[in-house]
Amino acid sequence: MDTATTFDYIIAGGGLAGLTLAWQISKSPLLRDKRVLLIDRDAKNTNDRTWSFWLRSDTPWLKELPLHHSWSRAEIPLRQQTLEIELDPYRYYTIEGLRFYTFIAEELAKSKQITRLQADILTVLPHAQRVVTNKGDFQFKHYCFKGYFEAQALQGLAQQQGPFMWQHFLGWKFG
Ligand SMILES: Cc1cc2nc3c(=O)[nH]c(=O)nc-3n(C[C@H](O)[C@H](O)[C@H](O)COP(=O)(O)OP(=O)(O)OC[C@H]3O[C@@H](n4cnc5c(N)ncnc54)[C@H](O)[C@@H]3O)c2cc1C
Repeated sequence: MDTATTFDYIIAGGGLAGLTLAWQISKSPLLRDKRVLLIDRDAKNTNDRTWSFWLRSDTPWLKELPLHHSWSRAEIPLRQQTLEIELDPYRYYTIEGLRFYTFIAEELAKSKQITRLQADILTVLPHAQRVVTNKGDFQFKHYCFKGYFEAQALQGLAQQQGPFMWQHFLGWKFG
């Protein structure tokens, strides 16, 4: 077995989910001896999105993240008055994509167990425990996490009978 192309785990797709998984593996004492290959086609060096989300403010790993902003109170303007709500124990947070990507890149660079590869994933072959990319094939001993969505999986779905939902996002910009 070629150790240069064989890893314990492969993370195929290093977006929000893949990067978070790689970061958590790099922090886990139990997984310290596991070698991980993280593959993404993108350099993750642009601010391509901003995430906004609800979370309990006592979530342990939250303070480690380079959060952009958080809100502990909400104001809802009604016809005659404004309703003010304390959100505790939750808060509403935002984090910019680029700050997240940069933070995780710096964290992963400290860990010798994670190898990053910028490549196009052509296919994941679970039974052969292989990931095929435009920069070569890679084997995984234990597990491959697929952190991207193949658009061709949707082909023909819209024509099928039964419930079908396209998801859309609608947002409001706060002051
Ligand atoms: C502008 C914008 C704003 C958003 N805001 C929010 C928000 O506020 N809150 C929220 O919950 N969600 C938001 N979303 C949805 C957001 O996409 C998801 O929350 C989150 O990014 C999904 O994470 P993921 O890891 O599943 O996918 P992604 O973060 O999209 O990661 C997938 C990764 O796979 C890589 N990839 C794909 N195909 C291949 C391939 N063949 N080979 C190699 N690499 C590949 C991509 O380059 C990418 O890095 C937003 C999305 C956009 C576009």
